[in-house]
Amino acid sequence: MTYDPNNIFARIIRGEIPCNKVYEDEYALAFHDIAPQAPVHVLVIPKGEYLSFDDFSKSAPAEAMAGFYRAAQKVAEQLGLQEKGYRALANTGADAHQEVMHYHLHLFAGCDLGSMIKKGLV
Ligand code: 5GP
Repeated sequence: MTYDPNNIFARIIRGEIPCNKVYEDEYALAFHDIAPQAPVHVLVIPKGEYLSFDDFSKSAPAEAMAGFYRAAQKVAEQLGLQEKGYRALANTGADAHQEVMHYHLHLFAGCDLGSMIKKGLV
C-alpha cells in the first residue's frame, strides 16, 4: 500500500481540515478525536508520511521516532494523564480496524479503561 497524501490526517496537518489541537511541534501534532471513545481521547500523529505503526517503526529516521514519542509523552503530561494512568494504542492494519492510513497513536484516559481486550475474544 502506498501513502495517500490526501488522507484526512495529512489534510489536518496541512490545515485544510480543522482540528481541536492539543499540542504541536516539528515532529508531531496532537488533537482530540472527533468521536471520543473515552472521556479523554487524543490522537498523536507524526508530521511525516507514514502509513502505520509498522511503517513508521520500520522506516522513520531515529530523530523522527524519538521526536514523535517524546511529543506523545508531552501530550500526556500536558493533559495530566500520568497520575491516574492512560492507554496508548496504535491500530495497525485490517484486523485492528485501522481506518486512517496515516500513523496515529490513540491516548485514552479519564476513567477506568477496563481490560485490554474484551473477554471472550481471547
Ligand atoms: P483508527 O481506527 O484508524 O485507529 O482510528 C482513526 C480515528 O480517527 C478514529 O477514532 C476516528 O474517530 C478519528 N477521526 C477520523 N476522522 C477524523 C477527523 O476528521 N478529525 C478527528 N479529530 N478525528 C478523526
